[in-house]
Amino acid sequence: MQPNDEDLHPISALQHMAFCPRQAGLIHLDQAWEENQRTAEGRTLHERVDEGYREFRRGIRQFSGVRVQSLRLQLYGRLDVVEVEKVGDAPDSAKFLGLSGDWVIRPVEFKRGEPKGDDCDRIQLCAQAMCLEEMTNTTITEGSIFYGKIRRRDEVVFDDALRNRTLEMITAFDAMIHSRRLPPAVWMRGCRSCSLIGICQPKSPSDFKMKEYRRELLG
Ligand code: SF4
Repeated sequence: MQPNDEDLHPISALQHMAFCPRQAGLIHLDQAWEENQRTAEGRTLHERVDEGYREFRRGIRQFSGVRVQSLRLQLYGRLDVVEVEKVGDAPDSAKFLGLSGDWVIRPVEFKRGEPKGDDCDRIQLCAQAMCLEEMTNTTITEGSIFYGKIRRRDEVVFDDALRNRTLEMITAFDAMIHSRRLPPAVWMRGCRSCSLIGICQPKSPSDFKMKEYRRELLG
């Protein structure tokens, strides 16, 4: 059966899911949200891109706040920035932006912090690219993530490995939403920066060490 608009998930949920399934569950099943310094800074960073500006520099056009969706992937979202660069007169690859001609299309995501050791941000960006591909009937090979703390762009290649990880994350998130079961709290290093730590209340690292210690000691 073809999914309809109500079955679609926000692309940003994949970033939560990849970071921590419980965080994704708290936000998207329980509608929990707590602001901390990081989320507040992230919101400020997104204010400009949410204004829906358009810029044209050195042959590259930038469109912010672009809405995308994919019925095949069951995703929707509003992209920080889509960059396009004209490469020919046909086919019309960026009609959704009101442009004629053939354009190379790249999603650009803005993050307040710095590159992390995991693939959460890259999965989110790859999902954006896959939605754009469905809308434009093109192949998108690369995108960028701009990190506010280091004021630098990281280039991301959408290779098979990243696409497969992204598809896995979509499946896992969809399964969690349909099960309506909140994943358990499992302490990890990222808990320290998680705005939901007060609601989630994962065990502290010392509790875990003590439990493991007792298990080892007492069997
Ligand atoms: S506190 Fe840790 S376990 Fe709980 S939601 Fe945040 S990252 Fe996940």
